[in-house]
Amino acid sequence: MNAAGVTAFVGLGSNLGGPIAQVREAMRELDELPHTHRISQSRLYHSSPLGPAGQPPYVNAVAMLHTSLAPDALLAGLHDIEQRHGRQRSERWGPRTLDLDLLLFGEQQIATPRLRVPHPELHRRDFVLVPLFELAPDLYLPGLGPLADYVEDAAQLALRPVESADSD
Ligand code: ADP
Ligand code: MG
Repeated sequence: MNAAGVTAFVGLGSNLGGPIAQVREAMRELDELPHTHRISQSRLYHSSPLGPAGQPPYVNAVAMLHTSLAPDALLAGLHDIEQRHGRQRSERWGPRTLDLDLLLFGEQQIATPRLRVPHPELHRRDFVLVPLFELAPDLYLPGLGPLADYVEDAAQLALRPVESADSD
């Protein structure tokens, strides 16, 4: 526990089981984690899958949290939420009902066998960079530099915001 708390960012992704609803529900559950509340959330975006071919498209978003949990306790909370959404850990980068990645935890850099922060792929994934930039354009990525340096104009075009009329 860290009494003062930190700002943490979580990346959400889903391409199975009604992805829009999965992500919206997970946003609520993040707000319900102990010693944690959600400060804000990005729009939801449709994006093309990485990894094995033939997967359905993804819905991605980023949540900004305030938490006084320790990083490993927050990661455990994210895993609990994934499990409640029926996440099966099978194929790497395969389809999933819900993926929650801890992107940033305050200004900390963490490298343990179970947790690396900043998330090692953060700065290479448009579906993370674009919603993160929407939430916090002035963010500095520990060990990497300003977020703005990693966001390319073309990236915005590859992602389509979810419209309120879109259904799963
Ligand atoms: P991926 O998100 O890369 O498709 P998983 O969600 O299955 O893969 O996560 C694999 C492992 O990555 C998890 O068991 C977790 O311990 C580890 N991991 C390391 N750093 C992080 C992080 N920053 N956020 C989430 N998981 C992480
Ligand atoms: Mg993950």
